[in-house]
Amino acid sequence: MNSQINSEEINQEGHLTIGGVDAIELAQEYGTPLVVYDVSKIRNQIRNFETIFEKEKVNYEVSYASKAFSAIAMYQLAKQEGAAIDVVSAGELYTALKAGFPMEKVNFHGNNKSLFELEMAVKNHVGRIMIDNFHEIELLSQVLKENKTNIDVVLRITPGISAHTHEYDQTGQVDSKFGFDLDSGQADEALKQVLNEPRMNPLGLHAHIGSQIFELNGFKMAAKKLVQVAALWREKYNFIAQVINVGGGFGIKYVEKDEPLKPEEFVKAIIATIKEETAKVNLPMPEIDIEPGRSIVGPAGYSLYTVGSSKVVSGLTPYVTVDGGMGDNIRPALYGAEYEAILANDPNKQADEVINLAGKYCESGDILIKNALLPSLHTGDIIAILDTGAYGYSMASNYNRNPRPAVVFAENGKAKLVIKRESLEDLVHLDQSL
Ligand SMILES: *Cc1c(COP(=O)(O)O)cnc(C)c1O
Repeated sequence: MNSQINSEEINQEGHLTIGGVDAIELAQEYGTPLVVYDVSKIRNQIRNFETIFEKEKVNYEVSYASKAFSAIAMYQLAKQEGAAIDVVSAGELYTALKAGFPMEKVNFHGNNKSLFELEMAVKNHVGRIMIDNFHEIELLSQVLKENKTNIDVVLRITPGISAHTHEYDQTGQVDSKFGFDLDSGQADEALKQVLNEPRMNPLGLHAHIGSQIFELNGFKMAAKKLVQVAALWREKYNFIAQVINVGGGFGIKYVEKDEPLKPEEFVKAIIATIKEETAKVNLPMPEIDIEPGRSIVGPAGYSLYTVGSSKVVSGLTPYVTVDGGMGDNIRPALYGAEYEAILANDPNKQADEVINLAGKYCESGDILIKNALLPSLHTGDIIAILDTGAYGYSMASNYNRNPRPAVVFAENGKAKLVIKRESLEDLVHLDQSL
Protein backbone atom coordinates (compact mmCIF):
# COMPACT_ATOMS: atom_id res chain seq x y z
CA MET A 1 0.00 0.00 0.00
CA ASN A 2 1.20 3.53 -0.73
CA SER A 3 2.66 5.15 2.38
CA GLN A 4 0.60 8.29 1.83
CA ILE A 5 -2.62 6.32 2.35
CA ASN A 6 -3.61 4.79 5.67
CA SER A 7 -5.88 1.83 6.28
CA GLU A 8 -8.80 4.00 7.38
CA GLU A 9 -8.92 5.38 3.85
CA ILE A 10 -9.79 1.96 2.46
CA ASN A 11 -13.35 0.73 2.93
CA GLN A 12 -14.88 -2.75 3.22
CA GLU A 13 -15.12 -3.04 -0.54
CA GLY A 14 -11.38 -2.54 -0.65
CA HIS A 15 -11.76 0.82 -2.39
CA LEU A 16 -10.01 4.10 -1.71
CA THR A 17 -12.19 6.56 0.17
CA ILE A 18 -11.82 10.33 0.06
CA GLY A 19 -13.45 12.32 2.85
CA GLY A 20 -15.25 9.11 3.78
CA VAL A 21 -16.72 8.69 0.28
CA ASP A 22 -15.94 5.69 -1.94
CA ALA A 23 -13.74 6.91 -4.79
CA ILE A 24 -15.19 4.38 -7.22
CA GLU A 25 -18.71 5.56 -6.49
CA LEU A 26 -17.53 9.12 -7.08
CA ALA A 27 -16.05 8.10 -10.42
CA GLN A 28 -19.30 6.38 -11.37
CA GLU A 29 -21.52 9.23 -10.30
CA TYR A 30 -19.54 12.18 -11.61
CA GLY A 31 -17.40 10.55 -14.31
CA THR A 32 -13.65 10.85 -14.83
CA PRO A 33 -11.34 12.66 -14.95
CA LEU A 34 -12.54 14.00 -11.63
CA VAL A 35 -10.90 16.20 -9.02
CA VAL A 36 -11.92 15.36 -5.46
CA TYR A 37 -11.01 17.31 -2.34
CA ASP A 38 -10.98 15.87 1.14
CA VAL A 39 -12.41 18.99 2.74
CA SER A 40 -11.40 18.19 6.31
CA LYS A 41 -7.75 18.15 5.22
CA ILE A 42 -8.17 21.73 3.98
CA ARG A 43 -9.87 22.83 7.19
CA ASN A 44 -7.25 21.14 9.35
CA GLN A 45 -4.35 22.77 7.56
CA ILE A 46 -5.85 26.25 7.86
CA ARG A 47 -6.51 25.58 11.56
CA ASN A 48 -2.97 24.28 12.10
CA PHE A 49 -1.60 27.56 10.79
CA GLU A 50 -3.98 29.60 12.93
CA THR A 51 -3.17 27.55 16.03
CA ILE A 52 0.56 28.28 15.78
CA PHE A 53 -0.07 32.03 15.76
CA GLU A 54 -2.54 31.78 18.62
CA LYS A 55 -0.05 29.79 20.67
CA GLU A 56 2.71 32.29 19.96
CA LYS A 57 0.35 35.15 20.79
CA VAL A 58 1.10 37.24 17.73
CA ASN A 59 -1.31 39.10 15.52
CA TYR A 60 -1.58 37.36 12.18
CA GLU A 61 -3.40 36.82 8.95
CA VAL A 62 -3.50 33.48 7.18
CA SER A 63 -4.28 34.47 3.61
CA TYR A 64 -5.05 31.54 1.33
CA ALA A 65 -3.24 32.10 -1.99
CA SER A 66 -6.23 31.25 -4.09
CA LYS A 67 -4.40 30.85 -7.38
CA ALA A 68 -3.66 27.32 -6.12
CA PHE A 69 -7.37 26.50 -6.48
CA SER A 70 -10.01 29.13 -7.04
CA ALA A 71 -13.72 28.35 -6.95
CA ILE A 72 -16.79 29.81 -5.29
CA ALA A 73 -16.99 26.87 -2.89
CA MET A 74 -13.30 27.19 -2.03
CA TYR A 75 -13.71 30.87 -1.08
CA GLN A 76 -16.74 29.94 1.02
CA LEU A 77 -14.67 27.29 2.77
CA ALA A 78 -11.88 29.81 3.45
CA LYS A 79 -14.52 32.17 4.85
CA GLN A 80 -15.85 29.46 7.15
CA GLU A 81 -12.35 28.90 8.49
CA GLY A 82 -11.72 32.59 9.05
CA ALA A 83 -8.91 32.83 6.52
CA ALA A 84 -8.17 35.83 4.35
CA ILE A 85 -7.45 35.30 0.63
CA ASP A 86 -4.96 36.46 -1.96
CA VAL A 87 -6.35 37.16 -5.41
CA VAL A 88 -4.32 38.05 -8.48
CA SER A 89 -6.88 38.90 -11.13
CA ALA A 90 -10.31 40.35 -11.79
CA GLY A 91 -11.47 36.78 -12.34
CA GLU A 92 -10.40 35.58 -8.91
CA LEU A 93 -11.84 38.70 -7.33
CA TYR A 94 -15.13 38.21 -9.19
CA THR A 95 -15.30 34.60 -8.00
CA ALA A 96 -14.70 35.73 -4.41
CA LEU A 97 -17.47 38.34 -4.78
CA LYS A 98 -19.84 35.67 -6.08
CA ALA A 99 -18.89 33.54 -3.08
CA GLY A 100 -19.89 36.30 -0.69
CA PHE A 101 -16.34 36.45 0.60
CA PRO A 102 -15.72 39.46 2.90
CA MET A 103 -13.86 41.99 0.76
CA GLU A 104 -11.95 43.45 3.72
CA LYS A 105 -10.12 40.12 3.94
CA VAL A 106 -8.95 40.20 0.32
CA ASN A 107 -5.33 40.95 -0.59
CA PHE A 108 -4.90 41.93 -4.22
CA HIS A 109 -1.60 40.79 -5.73
CA GLY A 110 -0.07 40.89 -9.19
CA ASN A 111 2.85 42.37 -11.10
CA ASN A 112 0.71 44.01 -13.78
CA LYS A 113 -2.65 44.87 -12.32
CA SER A 114 -4.70 46.58 -14.98
CA LEU A 115 -6.63 49.80 -14.55
CA PHE A 116 -9.82 47.72 -14.75
CA GLU A 117 -8.58 45.38 -12.01
CA LEU A 118 -7.52 48.22 -9.72
CA GLU A 119 -10.87 49.95 -10.24
CA MET A 120 -12.70 46.74 -9.43
CA ALA A 121 -10.59 46.21 -6.32
CA VAL A 122 -11.06 49.80 -5.11
CA LYS A 123 -14.79 49.98 -5.85
CA ASN A 124 -15.32 46.74 -3.94
CA HIS A 125 -13.13 47.95 -1.06
CA VAL A 126 -10.71 45.05 -0.92
CA GLY A 127 -8.67 45.01 2.27
CA ARG A 128 -5.22 45.51 0.87
CA ILE A 129 -3.44 46.16 -2.39
CA MET A 130 -0.05 44.49 -2.52
CA ILE A 131 1.95 47.11 -4.42
CA ASP A 132 4.41 45.59 -6.87
CA ASN A 133 5.79 48.39 -9.08
CA PHE A 134 5.87 52.13 -9.83
CA HIS A 135 3.37 51.93 -12.68
CA GLU A 136 0.89 50.49 -10.23
CA ILE A 137 1.42 53.32 -7.73
CA GLU A 138 0.48 55.78 -10.46
CA LEU A 139 -2.57 53.83 -11.62
CA LEU A 140 -3.80 53.23 -8.10
CA SER A 141 -3.35 56.88 -7.19
CA GLN A 142 -5.54 57.86 -10.13
CA VAL A 143 -8.21 55.26 -9.26
CA LEU A 144 -8.31 56.35 -5.61
CA LYS A 145 -8.71 60.00 -6.59
CA GLU A 146 -11.51 59.19 -9.01
CA ASN A 147 -13.30 57.12 -6.41
CA LYS A 148 -12.55 59.54 -3.56
CA THR A 149 -11.51 56.70 -1.31
CA ASN A 150 -8.48 55.41 0.58
CA ILE A 151 -6.91 51.98 0.75
CA ASP A 152 -4.39 50.01 2.79
CA VAL A 153 -1.33 48.93 0.86
CA VAL A 154 1.62 46.63 1.49
CA LEU A 155 4.86 46.97 -0.48
CA ARG A 156 6.26 43.87 -2.12
CA ILE A 157 10.02 43.74 -2.14
CA THR A 158 12.48 41.26 -3.62
CA PRO A 159 14.61 40.27 -0.66
CA GLY A 160 17.49 38.93 -2.78
CA ILE A 161 17.12 35.39 -1.53
CA SER A 162 17.11 32.36 -3.80
CA ALA A 163 15.02 29.54 -2.43
CA HIS A 164 16.19 26.03 -3.23
CA THR A 165 13.38 25.04 -5.51
CA HIS A 166 12.57 24.72 -9.20
CA GLU A 167 13.76 27.71 -11.20
CA TYR A 168 10.21 28.58 -12.28
CA ASP A 169 9.13 28.50 -8.65
CA GLN A 170 11.70 31.03 -7.43
CA THR A 171 10.52 34.56 -6.92
CA GLY A 172 12.70 36.14 -4.25
CA GLN A 173 16.04 36.46 -6.05
CA VAL A 174 17.21 39.90 -7.20
CA ASP A 175 16.64 39.02 -10.87
CA SER A 176 12.87 38.59 -10.59
CA LYS A 177 9.88 40.20 -12.26
CA PHE A 178 8.12 40.61 -8.90
CA GLY A 179 8.38 43.47 -6.44
CA PHE A 180 10.74 46.36 -5.67
CA ASP A 181 14.47 45.77 -5.59
CA LEU A 182 16.26 46.69 -2.37
CA ASP A 183 19.89 47.35 -3.20
CA SER A 184 19.20 49.75 -6.06
CA GLY A 185 17.01 51.89 -3.80
CA GLN A 186 13.77 51.06 -5.62
CA ALA A 187 12.03 49.89 -2.48
CA ASP A 188 12.92 53.11 -0.63
CA GLU A 189 11.69 55.18 -3.55
CA ALA A 190 8.43 53.20 -3.60
CA LEU A 191 7.84 53.85 0.09
CA LYS A 192 8.54 57.56 -0.38
CA GLN A 193 6.02 57.74 -3.22
CA VAL A 194 3.39 55.87 -1.23
CA LEU A 195 3.94 58.07 1.82
CA ASN A 196 3.24 61.04 -0.44
CA GLU A 197 -0.06 59.57 -1.56
CA PRO A 198 -2.65 60.74 0.98
CA ARG A 199 -5.09 58.07 -0.19
CA MET A 200 -2.68 55.17 0.31
CA ASN A 201 -2.10 53.87 3.80
CA PRO A 202 1.08 51.78 3.87
CA LEU A 203 0.84 48.99 6.43
CA GLY A 204 4.12 47.25 5.91
CA LEU A 205 6.08 45.04 3.61
CA HIS A 206 5.89 41.73 1.85
CA ALA A 207 8.20 39.15 0.33
CA HIS A 208 7.45 35.80 -1.26
CA ILE A 209 10.57 33.78 -1.94
CA GLY A 210 9.18 30.93 -4.00
CA SER A 211 7.15 27.77 -3.89
CA GLN A 212 7.50 24.13 -2.83
CA ILE A 213 10.32 25.07 -0.45
CA PHE A 214 11.62 22.44 1.97
CA GLU A 215 14.23 24.38 3.90
CA LEU A 216 13.78 26.76 6.79
CA ASN A 217 16.78 28.84 5.96
CA GLY A 218 15.30 30.84 3.08
CA PHE A 219 12.31 31.83 5.20
CA LYS A 220 14.47 32.82 8.14
CA MET A 221 16.69 34.93 5.90
CA ALA A 222 13.69 36.58 4.28
CA ALA A 223 12.05 37.30 7.64
CA LYS A 224 15.29 38.80 8.91
CA LYS A 225 15.67 40.91 5.80
CA LEU A 226 12.13 42.23 6.09
CA VAL A 227 12.74 43.31 9.69
CA GLN A 228 16.01 44.98 8.67
CA VAL A 229 14.18 46.92 5.97
CA ALA A 230 11.47 47.85 8.46
CA ALA A 231 14.14 49.13 10.86
CA LEU A 232 15.72 51.16 8.08
CA TRP A 233 12.39 52.63 7.07
CA ARG A 234 11.72 53.74 10.63
CA GLU A 235 15.11 55.41 10.73
CA LYS A 236 14.91 57.07 7.31
CA TYR A 237 11.21 57.85 6.97
CA ASN A 238 9.82 57.52 10.48
CA PHE A 239 7.62 54.77 9.09
CA ILE A 240 6.62 51.97 11.45
CA ALA A 241 5.68 48.72 9.71
CA GLN A 242 2.59 47.22 11.31
CA VAL A 243 2.59 44.24 8.98
CA ILE A 244 5.29 41.85 7.82
CA ASN A 245 4.08 39.41 5.21
CA VAL A 246 6.40 36.50 4.45
CA GLY A 247 4.37 35.04 1.59
CA GLY A 248 3.78 31.34 1.06
CA GLY A 249 5.74 28.54 -0.52
CA PHE A 250 5.72 25.88 2.20
CA GLY A 251 6.60 22.59 0.51
CA ILE A 252 4.46 19.46 0.56
CA LYS A 253 5.18 15.78 0.08
CA TYR A 254 4.38 14.65 -3.44
CA VAL A 255 6.58 11.56 -3.64
CA GLU A 256 8.42 9.26 -1.27
CA LYS A 257 11.70 11.16 -1.48
CA ASP A 258 10.10 14.47 -0.47
CA GLU A 259 10.63 15.18 3.20
CA PRO A 260 9.16 18.58 3.94
CA LEU A 261 8.68 19.92 7.43
CA LYS A 262 5.10 20.30 8.53
CA PRO A 263 3.85 23.64 7.15
CA GLU A 264 3.34 24.91 10.71
CA GLU A 265 7.02 24.29 11.45
CA PHE A 266 7.99 26.86 8.84
CA VAL A 267 5.65 29.33 10.45
CA LYS A 268 7.03 28.67 13.90
CA ALA A 269 10.54 29.44 12.68
CA ILE A 270 9.35 32.59 10.92
CA ILE A 271 7.61 33.85 14.04
CA ALA A 272 10.70 33.12 16.18
CA THR A 273 12.95 34.97 13.70
CA ILE A 274 10.70 38.02 13.55
CA LYS A 275 10.37 38.14 17.35
CA GLU A 276 14.13 37.93 17.73
CA GLU A 277 14.98 40.44 15.03
CA THR A 278 12.41 43.05 16.04
CA ALA A 279 13.57 42.80 19.65
CA LYS A 280 17.16 43.43 18.53
CA VAL A 281 16.26 46.69 16.82
CA ASN A 282 13.54 47.59 19.26
CA LEU A 283 10.70 47.57 16.74
CA PRO A 284 7.18 46.81 17.92
CA MET A 285 6.11 43.25 17.09
CA PRO A 286 4.22 43.51 13.79
CA GLU A 287 1.27 41.49 12.56
CA ILE A 288 2.74 38.48 10.73
CA ASP A 289 0.97 37.45 7.56
CA ILE A 290 1.43 34.25 5.60
CA GLU A 291 0.04 33.31 2.20
CA PRO A 292 -0.01 29.54 1.86
CA GLY A 293 -1.59 28.09 -1.26
CA ARG A 294 -0.15 24.69 -2.07
CA SER A 295 0.14 23.54 1.54
CA ILE A 296 -3.56 24.24 2.15
CA VAL A 297 -5.09 22.55 -0.88
CA GLY A 298 -2.35 20.37 -2.41
CA PRO A 299 -2.47 17.30 -0.15
CA ALA A 300 -6.28 17.47 0.03
CA GLY A 301 -6.73 16.92 -3.72
CA TYR A 302 -7.03 13.66 -5.65
CA SER A 303 -7.37 13.24 -9.40
CA LEU A 304 -9.39 10.22 -10.49
CA TYR A 305 -8.89 8.79 -13.97
CA THR A 306 -10.11 5.73 -15.85
CA VAL A 307 -7.54 3.52 -17.54
CA GLY A 308 -8.04 3.13 -21.30
CA SER A 309 -5.45 1.99 -23.82
CA SER A 310 -1.93 0.73 -23.30
CA LYS A 311 1.13 0.23 -25.43
CA VAL A 312 3.78 -2.38 -24.82
CA VAL A 313 7.03 -2.49 -26.78
CA SER A 314 9.47 -5.17 -25.79
CA GLY A 315 12.43 -3.75 -23.90
CA LEU A 316 10.73 -0.43 -23.16
CA THR A 317 8.62 0.81 -20.28
CA PRO A 318 4.96 0.24 -21.19
CA TYR A 319 2.57 3.15 -21.57
CA VAL A 320 -0.80 3.02 -19.86
CA THR A 321 -3.10 5.85 -20.83
CA VAL A 322 -5.84 7.47 -18.78
CA ASP A 323 -8.74 9.70 -19.81
CA GLY A 324 -7.10 12.97 -18.67
CA GLY A 325 -3.63 14.45 -18.64
CA MET A 326 -1.99 17.80 -19.24
CA GLY A 327 -5.35 19.52 -19.74
CA ASP A 328 -6.32 18.89 -16.12
CA ASN A 329 -2.80 18.75 -14.66
CA ILE A 330 -0.06 20.49 -16.58
CA ARG A 331 2.53 20.35 -13.79
CA PRO A 332 4.35 17.20 -14.95
CA ALA A 333 4.66 18.55 -18.51
CA LEU A 334 5.43 22.11 -17.39
CA TYR A 335 7.89 21.58 -14.54
CA GLY A 336 8.62 17.87 -14.55
CA ALA A 337 6.55 17.69 -11.38
CA GLU A 338 6.33 14.24 -9.80
CA TYR A 339 3.35 12.48 -8.28
CA GLU A 340 2.37 9.11 -6.90
CA ALA A 341 -0.68 7.19 -8.00
CA ILE A 342 -2.68 4.34 -6.54
CA LEU A 343 -5.16 1.89 -7.93
CA ALA A 344 -8.31 3.34 -6.37
CA ASN A 345 -10.40 0.20 -6.94
CA ASP A 346 -7.79 -1.90 -5.08
CA PRO A 347 -5.16 0.16 -3.24
CA ASN A 348 -3.92 -2.94 -1.38
CA LYS A 349 -3.02 -4.80 -4.56
CA GLN A 350 0.69 -5.47 -4.83
CA ALA A 351 2.45 -2.81 -6.93
CA ASP A 352 4.79 -4.82 -9.11
CA GLU A 353 4.87 -3.14 -12.52
CA VAL A 354 6.67 -0.04 -13.69
CA ILE A 355 4.80 1.89 -16.34
CA ASN A 356 4.56 5.38 -17.80
CA LEU A 357 1.16 6.73 -16.85
CA ALA A 358 0.28 8.74 -19.94
CA GLY A 359 -2.34 11.35 -20.65
CA LYS A 360 -4.59 11.48 -23.72
CA TYR A 361 -3.39 14.82 -25.08
CA CYS A 362 -1.47 15.21 -28.34
CA GLU A 363 1.95 15.95 -26.85
CA SER A 364 4.66 13.40 -26.21
CA GLY A 365 5.36 15.27 -22.98
CA ASP A 366 1.89 14.50 -21.72
CA ILE A 367 3.02 11.85 -19.24
CA LEU A 368 1.44 12.25 -15.82
CA ILE A 369 3.90 9.94 -14.05
CA LYS A 370 7.08 8.50 -15.51
CA ASN A 371 8.14 5.08 -14.20
CA ALA A 372 5.15 4.74 -11.91
CA LEU A 373 5.20 1.66 -9.70
CA LEU A 374 1.66 0.28 -9.82
CA PRO A 375 -0.19 -3.03 -9.84
CA SER A 376 -0.86 -4.43 -13.31
CA LEU A 377 -3.55 -2.20 -14.79
CA HIS A 378 -6.54 -3.04 -16.93
CA THR A 379 -8.96 -1.01 -18.98
CA GLY A 380 -11.63 0.39 -16.68
CA ASP A 381 -9.44 0.53 -13.59
CA ILE A 382 -9.70 3.78 -11.62
CA ILE A 383 -6.41 5.48 -10.83
CA ALA A 384 -6.07 8.14 -8.16
CA ILE A 385 -3.16 10.53 -8.44
CA LEU A 386 -2.42 11.93 -4.99
CA ASP A 387 -1.74 15.50 -3.85
CA THR A 388 -3.09 17.18 -6.99
CA GLY A 389 -5.11 19.84 -5.17
CA ALA A 390 -2.81 22.78 -5.91
CA TYR A 391 -2.12 24.25 -9.36
CA GLY A 392 -3.98 21.39 -11.02
CA TYR A 393 -7.53 22.44 -11.81
CA SER A 394 -6.51 26.11 -11.53
CA MET A 395 -4.10 25.63 -14.45
CA ALA A 396 -6.48 23.43 -16.47
CA SER A 397 -7.00 24.15 -20.15
CA ASN A 398 -9.19 23.02 -23.01
CA TYR A 399 -6.27 21.81 -25.09
CA ASN A 400 -7.48 19.42 -27.79
CA ARG A 401 -10.94 20.75 -26.95
CA ASN A 402 -11.25 18.43 -24.02
CA PRO A 403 -13.71 19.63 -21.39
CA ARG A 404 -12.27 20.50 -18.00
CA PRO A 405 -13.16 17.98 -15.28
CA ALA A 406 -15.71 18.30 -12.52
CA VAL A 407 -14.62 19.08 -8.95
CA VAL A 408 -16.20 17.47 -5.91
CA PHE A 409 -15.83 18.29 -2.22
CA ALA A 410 -16.02 15.23 0.05
CA GLU A 411 -16.40 15.45 3.80
CA ASN A 412 -17.79 13.17 6.51
CA GLY A 413 -18.99 10.62 3.99
CA LYS A 414 -20.85 13.16 1.85
CA ALA A 415 -19.96 14.44 -1.61
CA LYS A 416 -20.89 17.81 -3.09
CA LEU A 417 -20.32 18.82 -6.69
CA VAL A 418 -18.62 22.24 -6.55
CA ILE A 419 -17.59 22.71 -10.18
CA LYS A 420 -19.55 21.03 -12.95
CA ARG A 421 -17.79 19.16 -15.72
CA GLU A 422 -17.64 21.26 -18.87
CA SER A 423 -19.98 20.07 -21.58
CA LEU A 424 -19.27 19.93 -25.29
CA GLU A 425 -21.64 22.86 -25.65
CA ASP A 426 -19.53 24.81 -23.11
CA LEU A 427 -16.53 24.26 -25.35
CA VAL A 428 -18.08 26.12 -28.27
CA HIS A 429 -20.07 28.73 -26.37
CA LEU A 430 -17.65 31.54 -27.19
CA ASP A 431 -17.20 30.54 -30.83
CA GLN A 432 -18.86 32.57 -33.59
CA SER A 433 -19.71 31.15 -37.00
CA LEU A 434 -17.96 32.49 -40.07
C1 LIG B 1 1.87 31.85 -5.39
C2 LIG B 1 2.01 32.75 -4.26
C3 LIG B 1 1.79 32.30 -2.97
C4 LIG B 1 1.45 30.86 -2.66
O1 LIG B 1 2.51 29.99 -2.87
P1 LIG B 1 2.36 28.46 -2.46
O2 LIG B 1 3.63 27.84 -2.88
O3 LIG B 1 1.20 27.91 -3.18
O4 LIG B 1 2.17 28.42 -0.98
C5 LIG B 1 1.85 33.21 -1.94
N1 LIG B 1 2.16 34.51 -2.16
C6 LIG B 1 2.40 34.98 -3.39
C7 LIG B 1 2.72 36.40 -3.58
C8 LIG B 1 2.35 34.12 -4.48
O5 LIG B 1 2.60 34.60 -5.69
